[in-house]
Amino acid sequence: MGWHQRLIDAGEGWYRRWRAKHSRADGKPRHGRNVHWWGTKVPRVAARFFPEIVWRLPRERDDVDSVSSGRDDLPSTKSLALTFDDGPSPDQTPRVLEQLDRHGVRATFFLVGAQAERHPELVREIVARGHAIGNHTWSHLDAWMHDFPVVADELARTDDLLAELTGARPVWVRPPHGHFTAKLRVWCAERGQQVVMWDTLPGDFVEWATPEALTAFTLRQVREGSIVVLHDGPGMAWGADALPQLLPRLRDEGWALREVKSQKEQVKSEGVRRA
Ligand SMILES: [Zn+2]
Repeated sequence: MGWHQRLIDAGEGWYRRWRAKHSRADGKPRHGRNVHWWGTKVPRVAARFFPEIVWRLPRERDDVDSVSSGRDDLPSTKSLALTFDDGPSPDQTPRVLEQLDRHGVRATFFLVGAQAERHPELVREIVARGHAIGNHTWSHLDAWMHDFPVVADELARTDDLLAELTGARPVWVRPPHGHFTAKLRVWCAERGQQVVMWDTLPGDFVEWATPEALTAFTLRQVREGSIVVLHDGPGMAWGADALPQLLPRLRDEGWALREVKSQKEQVKSEGVRRA
């Protein structure tokens, strides 16, 4: 364990006390005005210290056809991934799926186990439409607020449910709030899973988000391989609201959108195509 992770783990106690003081009445964290700025800058710095965590898509060859830009006339050299957290939810997930389909792009959904249990048909629908899924714990548990056995239980329970619903255990894990710990990283690695963070956080979870602001921020911040976080949890309409303008704008700027894939999977699909 490097000093970076030691520093993070040592901060847990401080964080628990701070959260106890600064949470809203419903127990959710209070977001500052600049949450999108911090949520984008901090991962870009942290990525240097945790190279085994996925912060951006691996570079791919220009001719990989797993890329779906939705338009044939654009070069597929610039790619990024949209990810949707906290779903599935009947109010948001179908809207997101419809928009993604309309623009012919794929994304990755980090699912909350309890939501998946309530809406198994949505989980199957996400997979059936060719999107990737990952584990976002059972109850959107903050790994900095709980002892690791509790976190591990939630991750395992969610893995089991998703495996049952889709036939495959998810490869990707995103800890809620991006709060990973040394134990979580080791636990995932031992199970052959990879922690996926992000490098662009438009902040669609704050009440004051607008489709225009989310779109403008995303277009300004994304770079090659960016992983963008949006949300399709219950009542989180802002991400889905932004898609009708965000998706065409990204396409017009030449971005190809694709799901998070491992390098191994990429090689495999290239091999199949070449055969
Ligand atoms: Zn989340």
